[in-house]
Amino acid sequence: MPVAPGQTPSPGAATQRIGVFGGTFDPPHVGHLVTAINVHHALGLDVVVMMVANVPWQKDGTRDITPAEDRLAMVAAAVEAVPGLIPGRHELDLGGNSYTADTLAVLADEYPGAELFTIVGDDAAAKLHSWERHDEVVSLSSLVVVDRPGAPVVLDPEVDWIRVEVPRLDVSSTDLRARFIDGRPLDYLVTDATLDVIQQRELYANELDTSAAPA
Ligand code: ATP
Ligand code: MG
Repeated sequence: MPVAPGQTPSPGAATQRIGVFGGTFDPPHVGHLVTAINVHHALGLDVVVMMVANVPWQKDGTRDITPAEDRLAMVAAAVEAVPGLIPGRHELDLGGNSYTADTLAVLADEYPGAELFTIVGDDAAAKLHSWERHDEVVSLSSLVVVDRPGAPVVLDPEVDWIRVEVPRLDVSSTDLRARFIDGRPLDYLVTDATLDVIQQRELYANELDTSAAPA
């Protein structure tokens, strides 16, 4: 049964089709939302969980990552008015490094009998072999891939990928963080509600301070 806005599917209900769209979401942007909404529609999913990574270990040490609770708040704000999309705090609750294999195991327990779909952009899909226990990810879920602008990538031919066409939006969190540095607008690239969270919590303030500092 489709899940109404703001509702979480109840554990134990009839077979559910649950999408898991994981990310650092630092910050969440229109590319994430358009992807989640279109996969939700194309595959007739009951819900897509925007699963916030606690420690995105593959990015750890490469830059300062915004605290997980703040990233979750930005995601919650982004999806609060979007039917079928909900924020996921499972990886925050698990703590430590976030591995999709563990997350899927938790969801499989929480929603017995549910069909799980792991949703990834093609840049992430191309790195599937580097994921911790990726064989478990493949056995616990169906893998859904969407294209991102950029050079085509090679996907593991052993995996039965489900391809979903979504509008290709050349937007990344990396670009958005760069926009904070030089003060370019973020309007329409992130939702107003997400922008409010950024302002209230003074996120990316270091980037803003840097831009305000004299050369
Ligand atoms: P960063 O630039 O910091 O890596 P990002 O924009 O790639 O950020 P992530 O949080 O790393 O966002 O990505 C989470 C998931 O969303 C990944 O599977 C990624 O491929 C996908 N994704 C990110 N941006 C887009 C986009 N514009 N279109 C489709 N998928 C996207
Ligand atoms: Mg990325």
